[in-house]
Amino acid sequence: MAKAIALLSGGLDSTLAALIVLKQGIEVTAVTFMTHFGCDPFNLTDSSSCSSNPLPNALKFGFDVKLSHLADKFIDIVKNPKFGYGKNINPCIDCRILMLKEAKSLMENMGADFLITGEVLGQRPMSQRRATFPVIDKESDTIGLVLRPLTAKRLNPTMPEINGIIDRNALYDFHGRSRKPQIALAKELGLTEYPDPGGGCLLTEPFYAYRLNDLLKYSPDATYKEINLLKYGRHFRLSDRCKAVVGRNERENNILEGLYAQGDLILIADTVGSPATLLIGEFTDVEIRMAASITARYCDARAESNVKIGIWEGIERFIKNIIVPPALKVTLDKLRIEAR
Ligand code: SF4
Repeated sequence: MAKAIALLSGGLDSTLAALIVLKQGIEVTAVTFMTHFGCDPFNLTDSSSCSSNPLPNALKFGFDVKLSHLADKFIDIVKNPKFGYGKNINPCIDCRILMLKEAKSLMENMGADFLITGEVLGQRPMSQRRATFPVIDKESDTIGLVLRPLTAKRLNPTMPEINGIIDRNALYDFHGRSRKPQIALAKELGLTEYPDPGGGCLLTEPFYAYRLNDLLKYSPDATYKEINLLKYGRHFRLSDRCKAVVGRNERENNILEGLYAQGDLILIADTVGSPATLLIGEFTDVEIRMAASITARYCDARAESNVKIGIWEGIERFIKNIIVPPALKVTLDKLRIEAR
């Protein structure tokens, strides 16, 4: 029996692509790639379409799913994309190339015959253009091996079509941004569970791109913790080497406290409703007082002229209290890491 490896995000298009091939009697193994930037199907805090849990549909339709974390390989292309960025800091073309390279390696290991993606001509401005598919295939060394079943009739035949493994007549000619044909096909194939189409991973979000650019400017070898932190709270740059992250709600306060590591500090106005502030990097008393002032500004005593802020190492080791005035709005605006 012929075998194929499907790149499966769990979104509508990639699931349909796998099902179309499955319907032709091909054994399909899907691979779901995860990154630090949101495409993690098991990250409950991320609801982007590229992060849907693919397992329920795999179980329902009868194909295997393998998970693969791209980790540092992905961070490398975010830092230095050969084909540049999309609108924000999303290196979509390099991302597709990396995923296809990884999928090809799995294909060879598993003795599979070809690869499947859910790409549709003209659906995304950067990576799903007629001129881009051949570049992606060439760079990933997969020329002729990548079947895009949803849009195949608009593209040159691939090896599995030429070899008769796949019936080209049973493929589709979808194109453009409308999802109506896909939704109709999902109904026809019995695919009922799929997420609303989303815009992509966190790298396509302007707020996130701004924070990541700041991080990479001051910390080119950013750690996973620094990258992970970008998703949460309000971020303030206190110096080239130090940042304060202020929780916006209880969930974020808990996350920030959980991300504390030796060398960091946590600041809280202990006697009133208060955010948790995580101070990271290298800091002196000047930055500690500034972080305390910012914390005071967001706590329930912000109208007071002075606020008592507790300094902690983690949630268990209390260091001392300091008294600071709440930071002025103009100071917050100056220090906050956000696009203006
Ligand atoms: S939005 Fe672009 S960079 Fe992000 S996962 Fe999708 S293709 Fe990759």
